Amino acid sequence: MRRALIIGGGWAGIAAMRTMSRHGGSDPGQPTTCRGPRIGGAANPLAATLVEERPYLGGRARSFTDRHTGDEIDNGQHVMMGCYHGFLSMLDAHHTMRRTEDLLEQQSALRVAFADTTGRRSVLDASRLPGRAGIAAGLALLGGLSLRGRLAALRLAALLLQRKASGKGLTCAQFLERYGQPLDVIKRFWEPIVLATLNAPLHLASAELLVTVMELAFLGTRSDATMLIPKTGLSSIFDSVSRHQGRFQEHVGVGVNRLVIRQGIVERAVLGNGREMAVQAVISAIPQRALERLLASSGITDHGLPPAPEMSPIISVYLWYDQAWMKDDFTAALGTTVQWVFDKRRIRPGLVALTVSAGSSLVSEPTEVIAQRCDAELRQLFPELRGIGLRHSQVIKEKQATPLFTPHTVRPAATALQPLAKNLIIAGDWTDTGLPATIEGAVRSGITAAELVYDVVG
Ligand SMILES: Cc1cc2nc3c(=O)[nH]c(=O)nc-3n(C[C@H](O)[C@H](O)[C@H](O)COP(=O)(O)OP(=O)(O)OC[C@H]3O[C@@H](n4cnc5c(N)ncnc54)[C@H](O)[C@@H]3O)c2cc1C
Repeated sequence: MRRALIIGGGWAGIAAMRTMSRHGGSDPGQPTTCRGPRIGGAANPLAATLVEERPYLGGRARSFTDRHTGDEIDNGQHVMMGCYHGFLSMLDAHHTMRRTEDLLEQQSALRVAFADTTGRRSVLDASRLPGRAGIAAGLALLGGLSLRGRLAALRLAALLLQRKASGKGLTCAQFLERYGQPLDVIKRFWEPIVLATLNAPLHLASAELLVTVMELAFLGTRSDATMLIPKTGLSSIFDSVSRHQGRFQEHVGVGVNRLVIRQGIVERAVLGNGREMAVQAVISAIPQRALERLLASSGITDHGLPPAPEMSPIISVYLWYDQAWMKDDFTAALGTTVQWVFDKRRIRPGLVALTVSAGSSLVSEPTEVIAQRCDAELRQLFPELRGIGLRHSQVIKEKQATPLFTPHTVRPAATALQPLAKNLIIAGDWTDTGLPATIEGAVRSGITAAELVYDVVG
């Protein structure tokens, strides 16, 4: 039987697998937009095997059990948006497992609460008017901004809507300066968006990606701009789209050690357990540096990939308080190391998840120091925490959370790695999806890669 090998069991790999299995006729979901022929009943059908070197699927978006409390927590709080169309249609198509509404809480319109260390609260509320006018009204009424700041932000939003603001070749800091954004609106509005969506500081982050985020998410439809917060652990969401059957198999705990490439074709893969697998096509759904290591162990250093971008860390902190205390589901924190606070009362009343994006300054600090600092900052931000004790903490440092895309980063397309091997197709959040390194980017790259497999194998 002809076989495609998918290397890597993160969102890119699983999206490739699902696209192929639905296409190959073994999946009860609805047809995808895949271009290739239906091959389920063909005389020589195509099988797909996904291998993941870790003992679990999910890659950088997974959950695990905290040993002290037994609670299921994520490797870091993830937030999706209504504009994650690839991700959402993948969940929706899989009716046999859990429904999307059981997995994710979706806002009816964008609403973000902000808190600062003076105790001031403000809310960006897009529900007052329909469509994009709602975001404009929300911005116009956002508290804590000077009149000048508000007008400047509205002017830039209008330019973005008319596609008249370009971020090409600029960092976010340069872009915001060029479009006359005063400091208060940068600190209280733009910086939280950049950190949350690009995981990079303003002086490094690509403004082109910020423009994309604004166009697709905040200035898209009312539904596109909403936030979706997982109701369960990330691994449960992942489980709802994995577990394939028949010709489509997933194996965890076994990696690919080496590829045998001859005359521009990958012929075989050598797995970590010593097994060799003959392949007609390979989708590499692993991070760029992992792919470079795999190619090096296959004797290839001249792979034609652009230099791998630096990776940007995210520090996530879980704090277990004696009782629930948050008024909003989540709040953006201003003027503190902590940037976002999420109420995790669904898991346990009093549990909160904190996020520090672009967290390189915290990476080398001891975890107890980080937890103490975060607790102290929360008490400054939220007077309602007075008298409530902290019982337990967990700090997770994801040092390789996402690639840091600057204006100078070159991202290769999710396509065959030519001229090295015409049947080796690359996917992953780092490829040129046009999006920041996100679950949605990973999913879209996986779908594209799966479609290309049919072009390769015929
Ligand atoms: C803390 C944190 C918070 C985040 N927050 C958000 C968020 O709010 N919203 C959002 O959209 N995104 C967020 N992201 C980013 C998102 O998680 C990633 O963009 C996405 O999960 C990347 O998926 P991927 O499939 O491209 O890569 P990965 O998830 O890295 O998957 C690659 C897989 O390949 C495996 N692998 C590597 N080498 C081999 C080999 N030789 N053989 C077999 N397997 C191999 C790895 O073990 C891994 O499981 C966050 C990331 C982190 C870390």
